[in-house]
Amino acid sequence: MNKRRSVYPYIALLLAATLMLASCGGEVYRYSRPVMGTVANVTVVAPDRDVALQAAEAAFAEMARIEKLMSPRLEGSDVSRINRGAAAGPVQVSRETCRVLEAAAALAEETGGAFDVTFVPLGRIWDYRRKPFAPPSDALVVRTKMLVDYRKIVLEPRNRTVRFLRDGMEIGLGALAKGYAVGRAVAALRALGIRDCIVEIGGDLQVSGTRLGRPWITGLRHPRNGGILLSIEMQPGMSVVTSGDYERAAVSRGRRYHHIIDPRTGRPTETFESVSVIAGDPMRADAVATALFVLGEGEGMQFLARHRELQVILVDLQGGVRISRSLRDRVTLFENIPVRWI
Ligand code: AMP
Ligand code: MG
Repeated sequence: MNKRRSVYPYIALLLAATLMLASCGGEVYRYSRPVMGTVANVTVVAPDRDVALQAAEAAFAEMARIEKLMSPRLEGSDVSRINRGAAAGPVQVSRETCRVLEAAAALAEETGGAFDVTFVPLGRIWDYRRKPFAPPSDALVVRTKMLVDYRKIVLEPRNRTVRFLRDGMEIGLGALAKGYAVGRAVAALRALGIRDCIVEIGGDLQVSGTRLGRPWITGLRHPRNGGILLSIEMQPGMSVVTSGDYERAAVSRGRRYHHIIDPRTGRPTETFESVSVIAGDPMRADAVATALFVLGEGEGMQFLARHRELQVILVDLQGGVRISRSLRDRVTLFENIPVRWI
């Protein structure tokens, strides 16, 4: 008798849990696929597997569509056509590429060219994939720097055309295209009625809604030791994007050379180990993370003081961690490291 009575609370609990699950609209499904030179993950809450898979397919299709517009490696992409033709005359591009270029131009202007999508010729002479890696000569850096200048892109949004004012210029949208694709993929899922999801490309992500009624939680990698630095409870709709010096890098004579270039010096930056930015718009978060990476501490802090809507997690070259005060209640540190709340 006693035993039997003690089962009721469990049955009640189970029932409550089932009801909660039902009211939240289903189960969590996760899919992965290679895209944009990395791996994309789509996590959706859906009533069943078929709905989940169909939605994820739409999200992946959206990423592939954007890659086709913005990859410099794909023949016929807007970026390829710009790089091939814009020095000779105006090249017409899609409305979307035009909008991304407008956002890039505004950030280039605000950062005095620290963020600059014309960095590409410099990126090439600092190619970290070359083996053995050797830094280019100072003379080559100086010569190449002359090809990098965002003010020499003429963008005419009305005609959706792009023109270069100098021969030999090239652009790359690597600093913000992933963020843009994340945002479009989330929009595609929402258009299909998926309220609760995460879209992540290479660690950069946006969440929508919740995970069965609780906030989505995401982890940030430690830039050096391979473990997890901290986890963040994500508010619905927010994005987190990280720029780091650890993924695409080469080491030569004890110095680290990586893929983010300061167009003002013509060299890879030596500022932070990683910069994560939390914002509503994932493209904005992506672009700003790269920009802060170039700006470094001093100018970076000034930038952040002008943009209180942005939250950051910064790891400096000594491993020191700085986190926006407004994240205090939503961040859990995984290691016993001192944090400066900024
Ligand atoms: P992310 O990983 O988003 O920080 O973007 C880094 C990528 O942005 C690099 O791999 C380059 O494709 C590109 N990039 C490098 N330096 C700059 C820069 N100064 N301004 C804009 N894009 C850059
Ligand atoms: Mg970026």
